Amino acid sequence: KINNKDDVIKAIETHNVKFIRLQFTDIQGIVKDVEIPVTQIEKALSTGISFDGSSIEGMVRIDESDMVLRPDTKTFAILPWGKNKGVVARMICDVYLPDGKEFEADPRYVLKKVMKEAHEMGYEFNVGPELEFFLFAKEDGKATTTPNDYGRYFEFAPTDLAEDIRRDIVLTLTDLNFDIEASHHEVAFGQHEIDFKYGDALSTADNVVTFRYVTRTIAKTYGLHATFMPKPIATENGSGMHINLSLSKDGKNAFYDPEDDMEISDTARYFIAGVLEHIKAISCIANPLVNSYKRLIPGYEAPVYITWSGANRSSLIRIPSARGNSTRTELRSPDPSCNPYLTFAAILAAGLDGIKNRKEPPQIMDQNVFDLTPEELKERSIEILPSTINESCNYLEKDELMREKLGAHVHNNILRLARAEWDAYRTQVHEWEVSRYLNTF
Ligand code: GLN
Ligand code: MG
Ligand code: MG
Ligand code: MG
Repeated sequence: KINNKDDVIKAIETHNVKFIRLQFTDIQGIVKDVEIPVTQIEKALSTGISFDGSSIEGMVRIDESDMVLRPDTKTFAILPWGKNKGVVARMICDVYLPDGKEFEADPRYVLKKVMKEAHEMGYEFNVGPELEFFLFAKEDGKATTTPNDYGRYFEFAPTDLAEDIRRDIVLTLTDLNFDIEASHHEVAFGQHEIDFKYGDALSTADNVVTFRYVTRTIAKTYGLHATFMPKPIATENGSGMHINLSLSKDGKNAFYDPEDDMEISDTARYFIAGVLEHIKAISCIANPLVNSYKRLIPGYEAPVYITWSGANRSSLIRIPSARGNSTRTELRSPDPSCNPYLTFAAILAAGLDGIKNRKEPPQIMDQNVFDLTPEELKERSIEILPSTINESCNYLEKDELMREKLGAHVHNNILRLARAEWDAYRTQVHEWEVSRYLNTF
């Protein structure tokens, strides 16, 4: 286990590491990377490595383009591929300004700040994401939307053609210190899920980012394309990233209360209430693409209505049946295209706000919400998730809690990027429109 500078130096010697990739993410959660030869390691670990951040999406104001990367030694890992020019390791970095201050638009910093607030209230935030993705065939080196197999949910051989690829991803992630719990074929053709053990929010966000590049890299070695695009095929399930959430206090699960009817604590209810209250704004972060909203429609196991339930999977938030130390809530709207640091930060901020203000969640929904008639939905004042990224932007813009907790810089840049996406999209004339209207009108 690597904790500090000395451990890193020792590991570099033991494994004869030649190159180190210094990683961080931009505001969209896209991995950025600077590689240094091992000769620079002392400098990287003591003063950090300077870089020009001016071309990084959402990162800088023009007058502040010099940035410094400081590796988080706990994230040191040997990369299992590309060894032909010498062993390569990676470290995930925090981004600093030249004057030594933390950079407010570094997604890791934003998450750490909200985690610190939780810590001051006595809580640690645990997160367990379930990532879904598609494996598609390539043609002439280009990705297609032809699935690699025609397997369905939990499909077994010989229809599931990806068992070796999933195993390869699992083994590679294990080499990178992941604790993998299960992997399986998902509902759609060519769709898969791999689940790893929950952990603190920061390590888990680091893991989500690593998971995505490992999956894409391994798929490539099989001549396939892996994608975390939320809804690649209109008539099939999309890919979600359900997030299992819990708080612990003094080493105990703070969502568990054996005395309660449902065996969940008031803290859990307040947390849920906070998340439900802010979910429309959070969607702009947890569902950041135009395409994200094509997944959040009825009929494909994705949530649409803002409800919570015991075990019923039609709700936005459900409480999986495990209790005791495994008591948790599962938020089902996020998708795997999101920036996990900002998504976890936004969810935690909303949940803590619920706790501080002792918010009561709406009445629990213990039936399939999709069976309710429009009248029943109205009677029970059940609200729906935003249906476009534009709508989410409008909620995020008005959400003062999100502006405060994410910081104005990140808040503004998320809105700027999302609105640019929306504009690029809404100014297209889609094939659907042409085939629908050209002859009729
Ligand atoms: N793919 C579904 C979603 O979009 C989830 C399906 C499942 O996990 N059974 O959220
Ligand atoms: Mg799952
Ligand atoms: Mg799933
Ligand atoms: Mg799930």
